[in-house]
Amino acid sequence: MMKTFSDLIQDVQKPGLCHRCGGCVTFCTAINYGALELNEKGRPRYADEAKCIQCGLCYSVCPEIDELDEETKNRLAWQPPIGRIIDTAILRATDSDILKKATDGGVVTALLLHLFNSGRIDGAIVTKPAGPFLREPFLAISEDDILEAAGFFFDTSQGMKNFSDYYLTCSQVREFEPLIQKGLQRVAFVGTPCQIRAVRRMQTLNIVPSDTLKIFLGLFCSGNFVFGKKQQQKLSEIGGFGIKDVAKINIKEDLIVHLNSGETKSIMLEELEFMKRFACYFCPDYAAEYADVSFGGIGAEKGWTTVITRTPAGRAIVADARSRKAVEAYPQGNARSLEREALIKVKLWSDKKRDAALKNRKTLGNKFPGIKQETE
Ligand SMILES: Cc1cc2nc3c(=O)[nH]c(=O)nc-3n(C[C@H](O)[C@H](O)[C@H](O)COP(=O)(O)OP(=O)(O)OC[C@H]3O[C@@H](n4cnc5c(N)ncnc54)[C@H](O)[C@@H]3O)c2cc1C
Ligand code: SF4
Ligand code: SF4
Ligand code: SF4
Repeated sequence: MMKTFSDLIQDVQKPGLCHRCGGCVTFCTAINYGALELNEKGRPRYADEAKCIQCGLCYSVCPEIDELDEETKNRLAWQPPIGRIIDTAILRATDSDILKKATDGGVVTALLLHLFNSGRIDGAIVTKPAGPFLREPFLAISEDDILEAAGFFFDTSQGMKNFSDYYLTCSQVREFEPLIQKGLQRVAFVGTPCQIRAVRRMQTLNIVPSDTLKIFLGLFCSGNFVFGKKQQQKLSEIGGFGIKDVAKINIKEDLIVHLNSGETKSIMLEELEFMKRFACYFCPDYAAEYADVSFGGIGAEKGWTTVITRTPAGRAIVADARSRKAVEAYPQGNARSLEREALIKVKLWSDKKRDAALKNRKTLGNKFPGIKQETE
């Protein structure tokens, strides 16, 4: 019998593996009239089970189900250990306004703006800061929209309602609906590795609207965090700072907290295990292995981004942005050796994350035998 969303509830939601990519809901919406929806926290659920036509697409597309893995890997020429790599570079935006707002070197924003201003995309699915520790998915269709999404935002003035485990979590695929309504044809997608994976699988199935996404910019990801009141308290105790004094946060090998006073505090990522989202313990992808270009702060100095180009489309975009001076490379000299070192670090973190995911999945599999066991 065809597996449906009821099986996703059993095999993915109950074991705690749903990372709210929103893939199942988007697919269902594309072929159906509303059997599924996302609740206010980005969790998928039946909106009306009677409307389910049992097509099975929500099940196939879920990244926690292995049905489309091989095909997706082959399509993207994925190679072990961390996906295809054409080039590694350390880059930053040339525009000082972008640099001021950006998380690291502002390369994601600079590339998006370059693509937009040169007419190669007519929109981008990004996330914008929406409150303390909170981001929301957003279809950017102007230069200002793209800039608005850059970087990290930290403001504790809006009360407690936004302090939920929705922090840094969002289902960008929610933005597919406005994308269709606006009739956009060439759209870039920025997201964490799990989000990129979900949409790449949709492309493997060749279903609208994933075919309008022309470029995938992936962020390295060691994990996503639950930022409730308790977690904030503990975090500020570990780091020895007041939450209200935080100006900005970066994640590299450590969590780096920039305070309003100009001081910075480093907290080892291992110390943040207490606030990691449950599904992230089972995630094998650190380096956004299915993106066209992947980005992270690891291996790069403050104010620079480590950039891994993975596909010919990604290479063309980065090369063009470099030649048009939208982004610049780390000054020559020791640049090559820094790039090599950065790639070694990315591989190390990827190994560590994949090993932990494999181990955790084995343990969870004892209780929920239906869950996916990664092979690589
Ligand atoms: C949850 C998370 C964990 C990360 N963990 C690591 C890590 O362990 N090691 C590491 O080296 N780098 C990590 N990164 C990546 C790093 O923080 C930067 O995003 C990356 O270096 C790009 O910086 P930039 O200055 O070039 O990007 P910017 O120009 O600042 O642009 C950032 C882009 O990212 C998008 N974005 C921000 N937050 C989210 C989100 N939650 N979901 C989807 N899109 C988002 C924005 O829409 C924006 O377009 C992580 C990022 C996230 C979101
Ligand atoms: S209609 Fe298809 S995609 Fe929607 S819930 Fe049913 S099986 Fe899943
Ligand atoms: S497709 Fe994404 S949102 Fe849906 S069940 Fe799977 S992981 Fe969760
Ligand atoms: S650790 Fe994996 S599941 Fe968690 S946010 Fe990052 S990419 Fe997604």
